[in-house]
Amino acid sequence: MNNILEIHQGLKKKEFSAQELVRDYLAKIKSKDKEIGAFLTLTEDLAMRQAKTVDKQISEKKEIPFLAGAPMTVKDNILVEDVRCTAGSKILENYIAFYDATAIKKLKEQGAIILGKTNLDEFGMGGSTENSAFYPTKNPWNLNYAPGGSSGGSAASVSVDMCCYSLGSDTGGSIRQPAAFCGIVGLKPTYGAVSRHGLIAFASSLDQIGPITKTVEDAKIVFETISGRDKMDSTSVDSKTIIHNSKFKIQNSKIGIPREYFGKGIDKEVKEEIEKTIKKIQEKGVKIEEISLPRTKYALACYYIIAMSEASANLARYDGIRYGGIKSDSENSSFLREKQDNKTTISEVETLMNYYLKTRGEGFGQEVKRRIILGAYTLSAGYYQAYYLKAQKVRTLIREDFKKALEKVDFILTPVSPSPAFKLGEKITDPLKMYLSDIFTVSVNLAGLPALSLPIKKMNSPMLLKEKKIKAKELPIGIQIIGRHFQELEILKFGAFIEEICHHQ
Ligand code: GLN
Repeated sequence: MNNILEIHQGLKKKEFSAQELVRDYLAKIKSKDKEIGAFLTLTEDLAMRQAKTVDKQISEKKEIPFLAGAPMTVKDNILVEDVRCTAGSKILENYIAFYDATAIKKLKEQGAIILGKTNLDEFGMGGSTENSAFYPTKNPWNLNYAPGGSSGGSAASVSVDMCCYSLGSDTGGSIRQPAAFCGIVGLKPTYGAVSRHGLIAFASSLDQIGPITKTVEDAKIVFETISGRDKMDSTSVDSKTIIHNSKFKIQNSKIGIPREYFGKGIDKEVKEEIEKTIKKIQEKGVKIEEISLPRTKYALACYYIIAMSEASANLARYDGIRYGGIKSDSENSSFLREKQDNKTTISEVETLMNYYLKTRGEGFGQEVKRRIILGAYTLSAGYYQAYYLKAQKVRTLIREDFKKALEKVDFILTPVSPSPAFKLGEKITDPLKMYLSDIFTVSVNLAGLPALSLPIKKMNSPMLLKEKKIKAKELPIGIQIIGRHFQELEILKFGAFIEEICHHQ
């Protein structure tokens, strides 16, 4: 497993070139991804071009930035200039991005190498990557299991070392939950810490871009690179806002364990693993105390009302004409092929409205349609006050719960998900069951807080698995560290401490 630091040192010592590294990774992707399905688009030419630039800098004895030469992947709802960006949806199957998301621009400036775009639940709506309009991604630890979602392709690509790290997005847990299911690290930054410019919007008051990495150190490097004020996103803040308290000492910190996160519905193994970790932390002299976040029980309902309302507004712009639309000259679009087979051309459709109905009907998947319909309902006159407005009020109360708790403690520790990875097909037919698996992650987005997901079980790499499967009981389990607004650096410091005691001692 190559992390950013190892690649940086290897390149500087000329143990390998950036081009060799890219070739290696591309070969690995070509042999492994047939089974896993993490990629939607490979960007070979771009990767080779970027690698050449890094190699040139090294041969000219120029100092290279830390991220230079480290091959990454990008969730396919984040724009990369001149690369297709589908958001996992048929309606964007032909859309070619014409600019870079700000996070991508910043990474490119540091010499990052982009290997490809990764699979996701359509528009980020889901928790298993099974809602992708193209194909589901499989969990590299056991191919019968889901990698989590919606950033499942990103998490799978990192965990099986088809890249060094990835960028994901998190609206209600989509970075943290797949990271936990795949045994790696994921950071959901504070709302506003990273620009959302160039992220295909799902629910704009909740969405954040963040890193998915192999180590906490890597998450820090990527986070520091992509964070900061961007004039293209008025909700983004200056990186000076990100608190750097050099006097902060882990041993003096106080940890809160919210009792509402350990009640019914949580798997025995998850509870046991978290309790074991808490004990290890306590043995190192860190103070632990039980706390309460009393409005936790409203979080899921509140999240789904707000997320669906915002999604119905955001997705109104897709009409099958703009954003790649349905191009009659495109040979390689399966969507179009389908249409040609059905002989449904524009001329056959009577009115523009019918055309919209048809393209939106065909272009969106079932889950997306469900959310657009429910969101339109909760925003409609007569129901707005009963649902949307009420949910906004509850959101404020949830935020207050956290504020109060974080006045008493420095961090809050919780499970990431009530269970380890579940089987593909297990929840996809029952949306409520799928939504319930977000129970521990959505409050963080509602409160706009930062949170880190990191694996607590000591494991080998999934690449070393002979049978490509481990037993359900052996699947990875993650822990979530929630901290105060803009205290990512403290959370990461505490995360590195847990990583050390769980994996190296
Ligand atoms: N699983 C959640 C949902 O379906 C969260 C998704 C996300 O964070 N993008 O809404």
